[in-house]
Amino acid sequence: MFSLGDLYKEVIIDHTKSPRNFGKLDPCSHDAEGFNPLCGDQLHIYLQINADNIIEDIKFEGQGCSISTASASLMTQALKGKPLSEYERLFEAFHAMATAGMEEEPDQEALGKLAVLAGVKEFPSRIKCATLCWHTIKSAIEHDDQPAITE
Ligand code: ZN
Repeated sequence: MFSLGDLYKEVIIDHTKSPRNFGKLDPCSHDAEGFNPLCGDQLHIYLQINADNIIEDIKFEGQGCSISTASASLMTQALKGKPLSEYERLFEAFHAMATAGMEEEPDQEALGKLAVLAGVKEFPSRIKCATLCWHTIKSAIEHDDQPAITE
């Protein structure tokens, strides 16, 4: 039987051991730092967005817990090569999942692989670890000069 809990653990372990798109992107068109003071997670997200509003490349660096690393890794995988409209759509879907109640099923169709991160809701104090990368990419894309802080 499909268990979100088991899949969640598997995916977190996999992406923590070998994070996708990890490293610095230089040069890049957009970048931002993010910080989650509750856990101490730090992220730096780099993007190369072309004139057609396609995310040509995306990478991240940082030091954080397994959830923040896995979430950033999954996010970069989901957005690389995609138009900015896909970022906007996934941002909304992820935010809706993270703020929905425990009993609410994640929207698998809208979220794709990111749906496994709904497992984090069993640990409410860690939700900000999972959302940090989304706060950070938002400030990168909006060219916000302030680091993204989850508080
Ligand atoms: Zn964390």
